[in-house]
Amino acid sequence: MHYRSLSQVRNDLDNGSLTLPELVRHYLRNIEENAHLNAFLSVYGDSALEHSEKIQTKLLKGNAGRLAGLVLGIKDVLCIKDRPLQASSRILDSFHSQFTATAIQRLIDEDAIIIGRLNCDEFAMGSSNENSAFGPVLNPLDNNRVPGGSSGGSAAAVASDCCLAALGTDTGGSVRQPAAFCDIIGLKPTYSRISRYGLASYASSFDIIGILSKSVEDAALLLEIMTGYDEMDSTSSNEPVLRYAELAGNHEKLKIGMLNYSGDEGIDPDILQYMRSISSELKELGHVVEEIDFPELEYALPTYYILTTAEASTNLSRYDGVRYGHRSTNGHDLESMYKKSRSEGFGEEVRRRILLGTFVLSANYYDAYYTKAQKVRRFLQDKTRSLFDKYDFVILPTTPTPPFKFGENATPLQMFLADLFTVLASVAGIPAISLPLGKTSEGLPVGVQVMSDAFTEDKLLSFSNYLMQETLTSKA
Ligand code: GLN
Repeated sequence: MHYRSLSQVRNDLDNGSLTLPELVRHYLRNIEENAHLNAFLSVYGDSALEHSEKIQTKLLKGNAGRLAGLVLGIKDVLCIKDRPLQASSRILDSFHSQFTATAIQRLIDEDAIIIGRLNCDEFAMGSSNENSAFGPVLNPLDNNRVPGGSSGGSAAAVASDCCLAALGTDTGGSVRQPAAFCDIIGLKPTYSRISRYGLASYASSFDIIGILSKSVEDAALLLEIMTGYDEMDSTSSNEPVLRYAELAGNHEKLKIGMLNYSGDEGIDPDILQYMRSISSELKELGHVVEEIDFPELEYALPTYYILTTAEASTNLSRYDGVRYGHRSTNGHDLESMYKKSRSEGFGEEVRRRILLGTFVLSANYYDAYYTKAQKVRRFLQDKTRSLFDKYDFVILPTTPTPPFKFGENATPLQMFLADLFTVLASVAGIPAISLPLGKTSEGLPVGVQVMSDAFTEDKLLSFSNYLMQETLTSKA
């Protein structure tokens, strides 16, 4: 049993060769067998089984929801009422959510089954899952390598068949990059497409819930159900909810831009080679493919790290040892209790980013860093959006390297560079998807990233489906 899409599951459920409790037991067994990956922080076996019985009855009666049969894992930054929520941090030790995130509630209402809480980098800060207070997640394809981050547990759980799909969050690549490293699909929708109510904030003007799955159709269906205005998040979009799940589209003679990065150092030669081959393949399929010079790409990374650390320092000020989670017993007065709780509760990377963010927001440096980065963000947004006046889609690698080994990106700067290609869509707020299309000569996965204009996920998904089916490399 190794399902790649909900429609395959539904097929077997409908013809009676599978029952939903059997499917849940299958995933629970896989979770146990893959415990060494450290992808799950909690497993909700009892409630998953209980729900599977109820939904099985609904299936037999013909009144089950659109997601009946979908077993889902959830990154540990999304609230589920009465379940632990820690953002993989000690600062939230013993915290339980008081409500369920809107996006998750919409999935549950359509009969999705939640099987567990997934490990991630602390407060979603990282690119390797090495920053979790619960230890790293291993890449199921090669246990010596990282699964990517910050949604590393989500990617590893899906890739190792411990659930059919998972929710992650993507602030600067945290869904796309781990998807690329674990050879699955990762979708980051347009900023504001999905309510952030119930998402533990990292950088609020970038954060968005994303989907990790094995099929484009599942990503499309989950997106369709989660999308739509939510009165609990006034920044959520009013744009109409599209029928993403239909995946229809005209794929004749598209105009595709390949973002030029050949001048950049540190990019794996196999990845460059793969991008060239996909470009010629697309031309052979009758599309117009042009290389785009985009020297502005180099500004995306510093802009991202200035603005996200600023927002993080503000967002994380709420964790003070009083309102939630860990409180130090070593303080001798109120101020030292705050200080000690925060320095004991937060890990190194989170502390570094709070300090950086506090610095760029400080009175003397505010204009030099924060204000300037906001201007550059607008400039990059305009530049990136204008690409879609000319092109239907823009393609670039998801990551500069294949999954690296633990400890290999030892300095913060090396680690930040892993986000080189993912932060652009985040700074611009546009949708982007990573597709598992290539392999390096060593057999490591290569993710291809496709970006499209804001609120055009319907086109992006149908083109992704086409790429997954049509490109020779994906058939190999
Ligand atoms: N790796 C990036 C960072 O550390 C992205 C993280 C994310 O998207 N949550 O900020």
